[in-house]
Amino acid sequence: MIALRGVTKRFGDNAVLRGVDLDVRPGEFLVVLGPSGAGKSTLLRCMNRLVQADGGTMTIAGLEARGAARATELRELRRRVAMVFQHHQIVPRLSVLKNVLSGRLGTMAVWRSVLQLFRASDIALAMACLDRVGLVHKAASRTDALSGGQMQRVGIARALAQQPQVILADEPVASLDPHTARQALGYLKQACRELGITVVCNLHQVDYAREFGDRIVGLSQGRVLFDRRPQELCEAELEALYAVSAAQAG
Ligand code: ADP
Ligand code: MG
Repeated sequence: MIALRGVTKRFGDNAVLRGVDLDVRPGEFLVVLGPSGAGKSTLLRCMNRLVQADGGTMTIAGLEARGAARATELRELRRRVAMVFQHHQIVPRLSVLKNVLSGRLGTMAVWRSVLQLFRASDIALAMACLDRVGLVHKAASRTDALSGGQMQRVGIARALAQQPQVILADEPVASLDPHTARQALGYLKQACRELGITVVCNLHQVDYAREFGDRIVGLSQGRVLFDRRPQELCEAELEALYAVSAAQAG
C-alpha cells in the first residue's frame, strides 16, 4: 500500500529526511516512533505531498509520486489518503456532523462540494463513522462543546468518512491524557482494522507504540533506526532512538 525508497528532504542546511525506506502492507497499523525533531511530521507531509520531497520514490495507495504533482493527481491522492492531525483541524463553531461530513467533500463532484450538497447517503455514512468513534449522540452538538478526546475522535470520524485507503495520523493523541489517548487510538485502530484501512501513525510515546502498532519504525534524525514488531522491540534500540535528542537537549 505504501512503498518509499530513499526519500530525502532538506530545509536549507537542515537535512530532515536522509534516505527513508518504508513499506506498509494493506491493513497494517504502522507506528513511526521517534523524538521531537526526528522528521516524523515531514515524512507524513511528504507522503501526502503537502511537502515536496527532494529525492527518492514514493508509491502511496497505487499512486506513484514523481516530481511536482499535477492538480488532478493531487486531488486523487487526497481522496485516497486521509490525514488526522494533532490539533484536530476541525471547525469549532460547526456541528459535529458537519465536521465529519467535510470528510466527504473531496469525494464529491466539485460543483456538489462547492455547494455542500450532501446526499442522504453521505449523511448516513457520516453517522456510521460517528458511531465507530462512539459519538453518534453528539452529532448535533457544536464541536467546541466537546472535550479534547472527543474532538480528536471527530477528527478520526472525518478521516473515516472520506473512505480512504490510507490514514496518515500525525501525533493524533499528543495533547491528550493517557486514558483519553488510549481510547482515541483504540477507536482508530479498531475502525481501520474492520474497514481494512492502512494506517501510518506518528507517535513519540513508546508505550502507545507497543500497545497499538502492528509494526514500529524508529525514526531518528531523518533515518530509520529500526523496524520491529512490538514484541521484538529492544531497550538498546529505544535508548539509541531517544539518546540523540536527549544529548541535544543537554
Ligand atoms: P517531528 O515531527 O519528528 O518532531 P519534524 O518533521 O516536525 O519532526 O521536523 C524535523 C526537522 O525539520 C526540525 O528540525 C524542524 O525544525 C524542521 N522543519 C520541519 N518543517 C520545516 C519547514 N517547513 N521549514 C523549515 N524547517 C522545517
Ligand atoms: Mg511532528
